[in-house]
Amino acid sequence: MKNLSQTWNLETFFAGGSESPELVAYLDQLEGNIEGLAGQIATLSESNNVDAWGSVLAVMQQANSDLRYVMSFSGCLLAQDVKDQQAKIVQGRIAKLSASLGAAMTVLDKQILTVDEQAWQALLQDERVQPISFWLIERRQNAFSKMAPDLEALGGDLAVDGYHAWGNLYNTLIGRMSIKVEKDGEVKELSIGQAQNMYSGTPDREVRKAVFAAWEEAFAQSEELFAANLNHLGGFRWALYKSRGWDSILKEPCDINRMSRATLDVMWDVIDKNKDTFVQFLDRKAELIGVDKLSYYDLYASTSTAKTSYTYDEGANFIVEQFAEFSPDFAAFAKRAFEQSWIEAEDRPGKRPGGFCAGFPGKNETRIFMTYDDSMGAVSTLAHELGHAYHAHVMGDMPFFTRMYAMNVAETASTFAETLVTSAAVRSAKSDDEKIALLEEKVSGSIAMYMDIHSRFIFENNFYDERKKGLVSAERLNELMVEAQKKAYRDSLELYHPRFWASKLHFYSTSVPFYNFPYTFGYLFSTGVYALALQEGPSFADKYVALLRDTASMTVEELAQKHLGVDLTQPEFWQNAVDITVQDAKEFLRLTAGKVATK
Ligand SMILES: [Zn+2]
Repeated sequence: MKNLSQTWNLETFFAGGSESPELVAYLDQLEGNIEGLAGQIATLSESNNVDAWGSVLAVMQQANSDLRYVMSFSGCLLAQDVKDQQAKIVQGRIAKLSASLGAAMTVLDKQILTVDEQAWQALLQDERVQPISFWLIERRQNAFSKMAPDLEALGGDLAVDGYHAWGNLYNTLIGRMSIKVEKDGEVKELSIGQAQNMYSGTPDREVRKAVFAAWEEAFAQSEELFAANLNHLGGFRWALYKSRGWDSILKEPCDINRMSRATLDVMWDVIDKNKDTFVQFLDRKAELIGVDKLSYYDLYASTSTAKTSYTYDEGANFIVEQFAEFSPDFAAFAKRAFEQSWIEAEDRPGKRPGGFCAGFPGKNETRIFMTYDDSMGAVSTLAHELGHAYHAHVMGDMPFFTRMYAMNVAETASTFAETLVTSAAVRSAKSDDEKIALLEEKVSGSIAMYMDIHSRFIFENNFYDERKKGLVSAERLNELMVEAQKKAYRDSLELYHPRFWASKLHFYSTSVPFYNFPYTFGYLFSTGVYALALQEGPSFADKYVALLRDTASMTVEELAQKHLGVDLTQPEFWQNAVDITVQDAKEFLRLTAGKVATK
């Protein structure tokens, strides 16, 4: 592949971008369909008519699929040009459609409870419904485990200005925060994002230290507000759970991720037993920086200046070569994405930051968004998004409701693709310095999962335990945070981050409770799959595709048992996964041993 285009083609979806007449017609049609659907659902009250149910579910599935299609399109438009005003108007209209469809689905949940057992069994056998039966059974179980439909409806109404309002208030509060930092005799006000980049990425330790101190100070000034915010959000959650008869704070997060508590516990247990090498890695980093112990603000600072650089064409070819080692089908797919302008990678102003992969169901195409800057990080982001794209591709012919995988398995294909590429980059590094830099980045990624995310999980559990009994003061929240960090980082740091709980959005999300452990699960699950791929060789590629296709049709335990023959509630699988990442840390320690001695 040579002279690849770095801009994508969106014209195949709707010609004319945000001004497209086709797009307007599509939205009009969808709006009509959703209105019609609400009417059809209303007729299902206490209905045991299997045929009527089958057709409503088919229409609902199509509406969800169509909605995703336009959401992807408008998301792509705004990402490529954040100032596209017309795209914002389109997005506003789509948000309304999404709310109407959501409301229709809530009514459907209520109707599901009125179907009698005989009709229910017949419905599950209906040829339109059978392929999506896992999704439907899950929805019904969910509805059963909650309060009576009228009470749930009231709870939902109250949550708009209660629960979700607390979540939204956090965004307002955090948006008002600024960090005052002195630079060259001048006091500068940094946004949260700017300050974070500065304290985590700057090579100058004094600057990191100063920005971090200013950060803690700024949050200390407002900690009462954040504490009230977190307490009320948490109090609402407990009150709702109590009324539903749920006594564990982890019930809902585990259900959403289709995993058992036993799996979650054994995963953390294995991680905990394998932290020694990662503590050694942190100690080595401290030596390389020239301090006794690292502080929180040193965790993501690189100790090395060696850089690996790839032009876009080189990066693309490297990715396709590595994918080919694993699976010719995956490589051919990636080649097609590069050659057919599925990727927007150009480095130019006016684009939004970050990367994503957007699916267009029905068309069986995806688009990848990112900004390519010749770095190894950009190559691995590209591989990551291509992993998501391949996941969507292998599910392309399946019904929409069998493609709605949860957060913990959503990152399986992406992390797997990233691992293929970053592991190959380490193997083909041209010097020890280059290899050390690549390994440091990789191991820091493991530490984020095993220690940072672990500290968030421990904190959140302990906070909810105390919140169950009453309000938790800001001072106590700081204590809980540091206790959790000490435990997760095994006392390996000099200075901790007491007001982390105030500065992290994830604790305030009302759509994703416990917005932490699914990251670690996804990372290790994918690494475990990678370990099996290494063991088994080329024949694994077909198994991998079969596994991806089932990611939204069963629990994670069933998924692992069926496709990998492993039991996720036992330590073996997790241990094999952790072992792969321990090897990277050991290699880093081996390569840097000499560097410390000569210092
Ligand atoms: Zn991802």
